[in-house]
Amino acid sequence: MARDIVIWPNKVLTTETKPVTDFGPELEKLLEEMLESLKEADGIGIAANQVGVSLRCAWVGREDGTFFEIINPEVLDKSGPVTLEEGCLSVPDQFEKTPRSHKVKVKYQDRKGEWQELEAEGRLAHVLQHEIDHLDGHVFVERLSNLKRSLILEKMKKLQKALKRQGKE
Ligand SMILES: [Zn+2]
Repeated sequence: MARDIVIWPNKVLTTETKPVTDFGPELEKLLEEMLESLKEADGIGIAANQVGVSLRCAWVGREDGTFFEIINPEVLDKSGPVTLEEGCLSVPDQFEKTPRSHKVKVKYQDRKGEWQELEAEGRLAHVLQHEIDHLDGHVFVERLSNLKRSLILEKMKKLQKALKRQGKE
C-alpha cells in the first residue's frame, strides 16, 4: 500500500536519516511502498523520510521512466555548477531555480546490499543530488534565498493546516 507523503517542514524531513543495516524483507516492503507512493504522485524520486521513515534509502528515476533504489548513498565527487528548476513531492506545487552540479559521482548499495558506483550527469545527476539531500535532512528550499524560503514556508504551513482540517495529517 502506498504511504502518505510528508509535507515540509515536518521534522522527519529536516533530520538526517539512519543508515540501513538490515537488507531483509522489511526493507523490500518499505521500498515497494515508497515506489507506490512515488508512482501515485507521478514523481521522479522519493526518499524514505518523505513517507515518514528515517532510513537512508531512496528511489531515483532514470530518463527512460524506470527507477532504481539507492541505499546508504554517498557523493564521491561533483562538478560543473548549474542552476536547475526543481520541485519536490514534499513541497507541492513549488518550482524554483536551484543551484546544483551538472555531474556527480556516487556510491550506494542496492537492495541486496551490493555496493555500486555511478557517474551521472544532467537530469539523473540532478535527481541523485535531490534525493541524497533528503537523506541528509535537507530539502531544495534550503538552497534558495531567505525571501523565497520564507514565502514557501508560509504556503506550506497553510497547506498543512488545510490538510489537518480534512483529517489527512
Ligand atoms: Zn524531494
